[in-house]
Amino acid sequence: LPSKLPQIGTSIFTVMSQLAQQHGAINLSQGFPDFNCPPELTDLVSYYLKQGYNQYAPMAGVLKLREQISSKTEKMYGFSPNPDTEITITSGATEALYAALAAILRSGDEVIVLEPAYDSYVPAILLNGGKPVFVPLQVPSFKIDWQLVKAAITTRTRAILLNSPHNPSGAILSASDLTTLAELVGDTNIVIISDEVYEHMVFDSQPHLSLLTQPELAGRSFVISSFGKTYHATGWKVAYCVAPPTFTTEFRKVHQYLTFSTVTPIQYALADFLDNQEHYLTLPAFYQAKRDLFHHLLQDSGFTLKPSAGTYFQLVSYENITQESDLEFARRLTTEVGVAAIPISVFYHQQTDHGLLRFCFAKNEDTLQAAAEKLCRL
Ligand code: PMP
Ligand code: GLN
Repeated sequence: LPSKLPQIGTSIFTVMSQLAQQHGAINLSQGFPDFNCPPELTDLVSYYLKQGYNQYAPMAGVLKLREQISSKTEKMYGFSPNPDTEITITSGATEALYAALAAILRSGDEVIVLEPAYDSYVPAILLNGGKPVFVPLQVPSFKIDWQLVKAAITTRTRAILLNSPHNPSGAILSASDLTTLAELVGDTNIVIISDEVYEHMVFDSQPHLSLLTQPELAGRSFVISSFGKTYHATGWKVAYCVAPPTFTTEFRKVHQYLTFSTVTPIQYALADFLDNQEHYLTLPAFYQAKRDLFHHLLQDSGFTLKPSAGTYFQLVSYENITQESDLEFARRLTTEVGVAAIPISVFYHQQTDHGLLRFCFAKNEDTLQAAAEKLCRL
């Protein structure tokens, strides 16, 4: 069969997790917690399963969940999207990203993608006839160079894809980023797709600056979050997209025929559990403690730890340890040292090796300690 995605192979997350399993390595590669979601939440899921909430959910999502998202968004970002016309529940952020791109792209439309970029963006653009236009983030800060973004805008630019907090770097958008972005797109029809799945993992008392905090940006954006990240349940694949009514109408046309609807009992459980503000309000401190522990454990190692302002990822430079490429080193670290990590070069469309690896610190203390012990031997 002639491939529609000839350049795309198996995702690095699958490759590294499999390699970790084969070699019995501690898996700090693919991003997922090694601890469970809150027991009250799993109790609610089993309650709704047993009560028979097992048939199709409404296409747009369970209404109570959309209402809860609206009031949470009001509390967090001062904006209450209309649950009927501006919020859609999706099967993961991956689906939401795909549906947003499918809803807006016509053949030849350009989408500005900041690199390093999460791996689902480019295939979703290509499958919908779009053309990714790559703009590198600045190294080592991973801040956006807005001059480069401006220079990349053409008459064919349909969208800019943003991700804050950023996977894999942990960088976050600043207030001046939002101001500059608003100025840049002010007189255009450019749509923003804002991947904010790590919205509740922002450290050092910094706020998460959602695009929903700025009405002029919210009015032209698909803003996407994922319950998988917030509730330590990446396997559930329940997420949502907030977008203005005309955007949501088109988005739902795609969602309706991509998945139609999202897993029912988990939506009801989340709708109840969202009353518990404490869980997400304490998440920054919860993950900051893990980040700080990981830093402490690796302080005498050969690795240089980069700043991680958000997400549950830590970038490290290994230039004091080896000259190997990041792919070679990530492989050897897994097979010989017993700790799996993600090489950053694969987040670029063309091999760009900065000698950086990504570790996921969404792990129990014991796991982080055992991994650090091995890493300190290098
Ligand atoms: N965007 C980013 C930046 C991510 O890290 C992830 C999770 N790996 C996703 C999107 C996809 O989220 P989900 O699992 O809800 O599809
Ligand atoms: N988002 C996860 C990560 O960055 C991986 C998700 C996946 O395996 N598709 O590690």
